[in-house]
Amino acid sequence: MALIVQKYGGTSVGDVDRITNVARRVTEARAAGHDVVVVVSAMAGETDRLISLAHKISEQPDERELDVILATGEQVSIGLLSMAIQALGFRARSFTGSQVRIQTDDAHTKARILSIDAERVRQALTDGEVAIVAGFQGVSAEEEITTLGRGGSDLTAVAMAAAVAADVCEIYTDVNGVYTTDPNIVPEARKLDRISYDEMLEMASLGAKVLQTRSVEYAKNYGVPVHVRSSFNYNPGTMVVKEDAAMEKVVVSGIAYNKQEAKITVTRVADRPGIAAALFGRVAEANIVVDMIVQNISQDGFTDISFTVPRADYAKTMEIVKAVAKEMGADKVIGDDKTAKVSIVGVGMRTHSGVAARMFEALGKEKINIMMISTSEIKVSCVIEAKYAELAVRVLHEAFGLGGQPVTEEAK
Ligand code: ADP
Ligand code: ASP
Ligand code: MG
Repeated sequence: MALIVQKYGGTSVGDVDRITNVARRVTEARAAGHDVVVVVSAMAGETDRLISLAHKISEQPDERELDVILATGEQVSIGLLSMAIQALGFRARSFTGSQVRIQTDDAHTKARILSIDAERVRQALTDGEVAIVAGFQGVSAEEEITTLGRGGSDLTAVAMAAAVAADVCEIYTDVNGVYTTDPNIVPEARKLDRISYDEMLEMASLGAKVLQTRSVEYAKNYGVPVHVRSSFNYNPGTMVVKEDAAMEKVVVSGIAYNKQEAKITVTRVADRPGIAAALFGRVAEANIVVDMIVQNISQDGFTDISFTVPRADYAKTMEIVKAVAKEMGADKVIGDDKTAKVSIVGVGMRTHSGVAARMFEALGKEKINIMMISTSEIKVSCVIEAKYAELAVRVLHEAFGLGGQPVTEEAK
């Protein structure tokens, strides 16, 4: 018999009927003889609702208090699910993040898990109970409630699976698995049977929210097998696993996009050592994460620097950069908060040439202008106008033959 961690996302526990459906699925696993730890998210829309409530009181809510508020969403779900499982005649017990000692640092709203003392969960399993753990939350050394960043219940589930050495971590969501691209944008998207940790990591960090980025990182580091599947049917989903030789044959496995980006350009900056450090140092001090950076070739001792930041940080970044640009004697600061990033991902890129060129050609044919490009071993990303994001995703999906059978070495 196996030890299974199951995680149910917001849509899967979106109302009372769906919670009952989850309870039924959990008890099926119990009836089959498995030990089950369940991690749940807040009911669909609840975290957004709590954030907007906080913003009605304060434009910049105190982050400690915000975490106190946000953690309630998951606390409601665990209590309801526990009752629903009990109503089906099975034993269950709910636990908050602090009760199961999901110990984190004190970075409110984006805390990192430091350790998990899963003793209470193990005891619950030994007692024949289903252990139901609140996702997305932990506790700091100072006993403060913390949250793990949006989508953080995935991380709770994976970390819990590592802590109890579960046989598998099942992520139940509202789609059948990980697709070649967001199936809600491209109906032709194909479900992948398997994807490597590294590809999934790129897909997640480039915008595919089906798994939270840090949860994939954690799964890779601890070798947790992750099965992404639907809570609404019994179809097999997608296994996130270690890379193997067969995976390199597929040139591009998926397309990701992120519409929440903004681009900032500083023109005619003096081209001398220390300038980039001064500029990006000030941005970093404000805890703003810079993504892509492009510096033009210097002309007569001056250069232009462009970079992207999350759109949510656009206004704050513009303010900082304008001040720094003035100090440096730069010419202008140009901002554009209507940009998007589209990316192709695949371990096959390591061994195939011409992949980036094919991407640029496909975008060019649709007259989609590329503003910035960045590459890594297994991805190519382009910054484009936000209004073309969906079109670009569809065009690239087609160009790399992702709708039908995957394009492999043999098929080329
Ligand atoms: P949950 O609430 O269960 O955590 P999320 O909304 O966080 O679910 O993630 C599931 C959503 O991720 C899907 O509804 C889908 O729109 C989106 N998504 C984006 N890219 C992909 C992809 N490549 N494969 C599957 N789903 C994707
Ligand atoms: N409820 C949190 C969120 O909406 C965490 C999660 O769902 O994973 O971000
Ligand atoms: Mg999610």
